[in-house]
Amino acid sequence: MDAGSCNGCEIEIASIFSPTYDAERFGIRLEASPRHCDGLLVTGPVTRNMAAPLRKTFDAVPQPRVVVAVGDCARDCGVFRGAYGVEGAVSDVVPVDLEIPGCPPDPAAIVRALRGLAGT
Ligand code: SF4
Repeated sequence: MDAGSCNGCEIEIASIFSPTYDAERFGIRLEASPRHCDGLLVTGPVTRNMAAPLRKTFDAVPQPRVVVAVGDCARDCGVFRGAYGVEGAVSDVVPVDLEIPGCPPDPAAIVRALRGLAGT
């Protein structure tokens, strides 16, 4: 879920499903509906407009569930810290299980982190 990112992190997340990284071979797949997910990848600082949708989306993911904060903005608001439209980091809104640092994180680091979660 993009909670307010610049889309840089999304580009790297999308690239993990390219032939170069091929995350699906490790059982990692993107799902359109949170009701079909095991976890939530969240990017960006959480903007004021996206705080409530993030909480609702989190509630829609069946338990047990994990939340992964992808990128420096998700971890601590990054370059958007203190901006008027920013509510806070992802962990200020929903519980976070794993953080992946970087602006944006390297696709290999995203795959490595998700493989650690999936145990693959
Ligand atoms: S961490 Fe960097 S690439 Fe990702 S949303 Fe923030 S500014 Fe954009």
